[in-house]
Amino acid sequence: MSAIDGLPPLRQVIATHGLSARKSLGQNFLLDLNLTAKIARHAGDLSASDVLEIGPGPGGLTRGLLAEGARRVLAIEKDARCLPALAEIAEAYPGRLEVIEGDALKIDPLAHLTPPIRIAANLPYNVGTELLVRWLTPPEWPPFWESLTLMFQREVAERITATPGSKAYGRLALLAAWRAEARIVLSLPPEAFTPPPKVSSAVVHLTALPEPRYPADPKVLERVVAAAFNQRRKMLRAALKGLAPDIEDRLIAAGIAPTERAEQVPLEAFCALARAVAAG
Ligand code: SAM
Repeated sequence: MSAIDGLPPLRQVIATHGLSARKSLGQNFLLDLNLTAKIARHAGDLSASDVLEIGPGPGGLTRGLLAEGARRVLAIEKDARCLPALAEIAEAYPGRLEVIEGDALKIDPLAHLTPPIRIAANLPYNVGTELLVRWLTPPEWPPFWESLTLMFQREVAERITATPGSKAYGRLALLAAWRAEARIVLSLPPEAFTPPPKVSSAVVHLTALPEPRYPADPKVLERVVAAAFNQRRKMLRAALKGLAPDIEDRLIAAGIAPTERAEQVPLEAFCALARAVAAG
């Protein structure tokens, strides 16, 4: 049976183009077009946006994004074997899909995109986390993107959306909460993928805030948070000793008890501490 876009089912696409999954590329494919359309809907209203998709593979999510009305999709894929399958999708949606072959960590997609831009991806988890950190820490804010809709290992998704006091709370949660609204919108069992990975997954949707939630110098905040969570079990006066000789005074100036541990400190207090540290 052909799908709504008139293209063959994904199992057939994979067989026709010999796209056996490669572990080295983190290939766990989504073959259910209802599911990929659902993920695309979580990315928001796509009709007025260009969508940057990283790692389209055989094109399940790409087809979901296009079927859900994305104005244009720019897809970056490292595995050249996928290009003929993606070319068929481009033909079914004239003028709406551009594919670039290459490593998303090395390509600057901006020249190919017109704002507003939304990003959607089902990526290998290590690449996904690296790109997420990059997208959350550009030199200027607001960033080039309006929203990110990204698949992660469930445990990583929980780290991105964690709140103070939980084990998952740390650098990723603070980075995400400072400049974005982040929430888990969908949970997926291993069987949703072919082949199934070992662990469950979740889709995280992040919306860029027009400006950071609290004022702080990004570099100083990053330094403070990294030092605090590098030794997360220590009291902050010990964990942050290297940042300033009078760190206890600065903690107090920021309204944080020097005996507190990083896990308990909310974003607002970390930003106040970054300002106190930057005050010289
Ligand atoms: N989006 C497809 C889906 O949902 O079925 C494929 C998902 S699979 C988890 C990850 C895809 O990312 C693969 O197609 C893989 O070849 C591609 N990929 C891996 N590393 C990449 C990189 N650095 N840059 C671009 N694509 C990459």
